[in-house]
Amino acid sequence: MNRRNHRRGMRILTLCCLIAAALCATATLNIALPQDTYDVVILNGRVIDPESKLDGIRNIGISNGVIKAISEKSMRGRTTVLATGLVVSPGFIDLHSHGQDQENYRFKAMDGVTTALELEVGTGNANQWYAQRQGQALINYGASIGHIPVRIAVMHDPGVFLPSGDGAHKAASDSEIDEMKRQIEQGLNQGALGVGFGINYTAAASHWEILEMFRVAAKHRSPCFVHMRYAGLKEPTNSIRALEEVLSASLITGAPLHVVHISSMGLRATPMLLQMIGEAQSHGLDVTTECYPYTATQTNIESAIYDEGWQEALGIDYKDLQWVATGERLTAESFARYRKTGGGVIGHAIPEEIATISVASPLTMIASDGGIQNGKGHPRGSGSYARVLGRYVRELKALTLVDALRKMTLMPAQRLEGISPMMKNKGRVRVGADADLTVFNPTTVIDKSTFEEPAKYSEGVVHVLVGGVFVVKDSALQSGVNPGKAIRAR
Ligand SMILES: [Zn+2]
Repeated sequence: MNRRNHRRGMRILTLCCLIAAALCATATLNIALPQDTYDVVILNGRVIDPESKLDGIRNIGISNGVIKAISEKSMRGRTTVLATGLVVSPGFIDLHSHGQDQENYRFKAMDGVTTALELEVGTGNANQWYAQRQGQALINYGASIGHIPVRIAVMHDPGVFLPSGDGAHKAASDSEIDEMKRQIEQGLNQGALGVGFGINYTAAASHWEILEMFRVAAKHRSPCFVHMRYAGLKEPTNSIRALEEVLSASLITGAPLHVVHISSMGLRATPMLLQMIGEAQSHGLDVTTECYPYTATQTNIESAIYDEGWQEALGIDYKDLQWVATGERLTAESFARYRKTGGGVIGHAIPEEIATISVASPLTMIASDGGIQNGKGHPRGSGSYARVLGRYVRELKALTLVDALRKMTLMPAQRLEGISPMMKNKGRVRVGADADLTVFNPTTVIDKSTFEEPAKYSEGVVHVLVGGVFVVKDSALQSGVNPGKAIRAR
């Protein structure tokens, strides 16, 4: 090597050393900056946020249970998952989940749900209800104070979940109504998320009694979550009149109104009910609604729903009823027999086109109305969310993916923000929001549960985080974690 070449060689060597040193310094700098290392990083997913309308490939950094960064830049985390080809969505929020134990929370988590709330039937004792779940829940939980359980207690009904005696069939005295108001007020003071109603189940509750309960709700600016008084189209006791009752109650008292499972009440009248709700909204009434993506209902056979006249009201007959415990279809004989013992019965009553119309409507949120008990129940308890994404979005193309996610995340969060400001940090993929996230494969996500086998986990939900903690990871439930927190009123 001559001298000139030697000098050139030295210069190249020096340059290389400088570049190497610079690279080292950058690397050291990255490690030294704590904000660059997150607890969890989700890389390269299609992030969809219905509020900001973000729909793009991003990395997400999570620390201390909160979304800290959403960026196209590289990130490092103590735990990193790759989400290439997957959708990263806000965790699903189910406003109507009767199953409130670990068995159900597992089904919910595998279906992408990070918050499951019992707002229709609710509880009769909010403090006790929340205390029973504290620190022991896989996902977030919450309940309303319920007119049904309060009426069961005040009227000394033998029913546990739904009334079958005086709670359903006896008119309340003025003093009994006063006692119900007192217990509902107490529940709201304890942080219950609204007032639940099942007027169809408490059939003897007068219109005045219902108005009195709405007045208590209005005092707390608390929404009323209502299963309406009548179902179906048959005049004069039909779902249109039932919706008029609660729209009026909301208008008269000022309490916000949420009508539960619109399609199982409306049946063939569902498009009319949706039109009524849209019209009431356009005049400024605070009214919302929800539906589940199935063609059958489920309730208890001994409840007032199956009092005389149910065939005409629901437009179905014995053969359309399916006994939950055995899966058998009923006859007049077995119906009479089971009505004495009591238990869950599925009613195949909702036409397919009505299920599709209600899932696709921009007015409805998705809510399951589900509950699995020892592996028995309605498939909605385990498959509602994956079914909307797999069947109604991907297969039927009844609505877009972004619209479906809005109905599962942002809309239910917004419904509750007035009574529970903590919901402003849920239902969004936003810096500063709670890291409740659902990561799923849009090409495979689907429900697997059926009316015959309801206890089957949905497929295609890959990761689910609750407060930054994995409850589902690589499509498997995680054991030994209970990050679920109480959702309560302000
Ligand atoms: Zn209901």
